[in-house]
Amino acid sequence: MPRGGEAKIAIIGGTGFEEVLEGAREIRVGTPYGFPPKLIVGEVSGREVVLLARHGPGHEFPPHKVNYRANIWALKALGVERILATNAVGAINLDIKPGDIVIPHDIIDFTRSRDQTFYEGPEVVHIDVTEPFCPELRSVLVEVARSKHPRVHDKGVIACTEGPRFETPAEIRALRVLGADLVGMTISPEAFLARELEMCYASICFVSNMAAGVQDRLTATEVLEMASKLREVVRAILVEAIPRIPEERNCPCSRALEGARI
Ligand SMILES: [Zn+2]
Repeated sequence: MPRGGEAKIAIIGGTGFEEVLEGAREIRVGTPYGFPPKLIVGEVSGREVVLLARHGPGHEFPPHKVNYRANIWALKALGVERILATNAVGAINLDIKPGDIVIPHDIIDFTRSRDQTFYEGPEVVHIDVTEPFCPELRSVLVEVARSKHPRVHDKGVIACTEGPRFETPAEIRALRVLGADLVGMTISPEAFLARELEMCYASICFVSNMAAGVQDRLTATEVLEMASKLREVVRAILVEAIPRIPEERNCPCSRALEGARI
């Protein structure tokens, strides 16, 4: 496991967030899994924050090609204990509409080609994900999001598909039957890798569209347009949430490896 440094909070995603970081500087961190995109370190309300653009600075890595292990390892090496992720998602649950914000509480993982773990042997670890998102971070995000946006859902099950194509209508019907409220392409293995390194992880999901079969046609342009509309709101939520995150962790995430090793 990498040794910790100074920054305790990371934001993954968060395009356009660089502008609110005080004293922002770029750093490069090497990992056993290769290099993550450049990281930006700065301060928000006196708290040191690392910013990581998971798709790369020019959005060049599609969801299935993101080097999730390098990203999460690098954050851990910088001392990050808590990760606030932002994810663009499609709505499956008809009560959730484009423009809504959801703080999800559970995940169904349908990814296929990604490196899912740091523990490839000989050390065997079965990490507990009874609560895949940090409860402490979730409660801060829900409270702040409600004060900033009229339509916030305080829970939701997010399905993660392999991409980069969108889902078929039949897949969306299947996901609905299985209990998914949202669908995206980046929450797995990101959330699980964070847990494997005992970091807290929670996500602000912004709904860019209804999923396939619920609306007529789905374009990447439409998803990007809604994402840019919601960018201000997501940024405002992050800026206000960061100083409200307790300095000490009172959640089980920091003890995730206890009893997980065989
Ligand atoms: Zn936690």
